[in-house]
Amino acid sequence: MSDTSNLTIERIDVFQVDLPYSGGTYQLSGGRTYTSFDATIVRITTNTGLEGWGESTPFGSTWVAAHARGARAGIEEIAPKLIGLDPRRVDRINEAMDQALSGHLHAKAAIDVACWDVFGKSVGLPVCELLGGRTDVDLPLISSIYVGSPEDMRKRVAEHRASGYIGHSIKLSGDDPTTDAARIAESLADRQAGEYFIVDANGGLTVEFAMRMLRLLPRGLDFVLEAPCLTWRECVSLRRRTDIPIIFDELAMDEISVTQLIADDAGEGIGMKISKTGGLTRCRRQRDLCLAAGLTMSVQETTGSDIAFAAIVHMAQTVPERSLRCILECRDMIAVTTATGDFKVNEGKVKAPKAPGLGITPDLKVLGEPVATYT
Ligand SMILES: [Mg+2]
Repeated sequence: MSDTSNLTIERIDVFQVDLPYSGGTYQLSGGRTYTSFDATIVRITTNTGLEGWGESTPFGSTWVAAHARGARAGIEEIAPKLIGLDPRRVDRINEAMDQALSGHLHAKAAIDVACWDVFGKSVGLPVCELLGGRTDVDLPLISSIYVGSPEDMRKRVAEHRASGYIGHSIKLSGDDPTTDAARIAESLADRQAGEYFIVDANGGLTVEFAMRMLRLLPRGLDFVLEAPCLTWRECVSLRRRTDIPIIFDELAMDEISVTQLIADDAGEGIGMKISKTGGLTRCRRQRDLCLAAGLTMSVQETTGSDIAFAAIVHMAQTVPERSLRCILECRDMIAVTTATGDFKVNEGKVKAPKAPGLGITPDLKVLGEPVATYT
């Protein structure tokens, strides 16, 4: 057995990959559109030759305060300060990252995940075991249904259902309460037993709009409303006056906002996204806060390729079934494969692999040469 008592980060490489959206043009509320995503992928190499991988792919530059070139600029600030540190001490790594750069969690995410990958490989265990231990839950996948006409959205939900999806994330436009109500009604029209619907406005509605839209819906539709409004005040105001379960996403950016969500009793759950949160270390804290408070979680990413998906799966595999709603199949949203691994989908569900670390093998031909290296 190799001596792992002295394990240090010797080198950090940064790769850049364009990830074209597989469905053409993705449309969100407020007229935001996306055709391709700019991925930052990090490789950490240790003094013993172990390699760890992580990814941070923002959902363009207009979703939350994060953008891809900013991730790489942030890594430029952080990476030199991590050389010589033990990657297994993930909380200490995060402290060092916070000392090097305030905020900019999405820049820290890829490094944090790569440290967990090294940690797992160094002890021969999958990351999910180190995060608390795997549940025996088969993780249900959620689709991402971008804004279109109500009929078109119903059709795309049906297509995803036919390919095994149990969860559906229905995006709203914020253009007109009647049309958005029709988008919800049509998308849920063929709902099957056991399906889970998130209606996601991505912060695009005013309280007035949301209340008008909800009043236009037939009673008894089973869904949760995610990120209805842009601000905390508006979301809490809407919540006080409706009986729709509210899920936080864009406003649940870190453990501080999740603590506030619990203190304000502002919602029923969160959309946890690994890169917006700064990686698995901080996701672990949010998970435990949510479990203590009885909130539900869907484990997702802003978007990303196979490396990001692996991190989603390992985190989700540690969430007890009653608190886990779904995970995002981000691989389906992009037209590039950056890594292989045992993440086979069976009837809309997936399980974390048994291989050490994240259980992935990146494709160096797809990643190309590093755009930056820190030693
Ligand atoms: Mg969302």
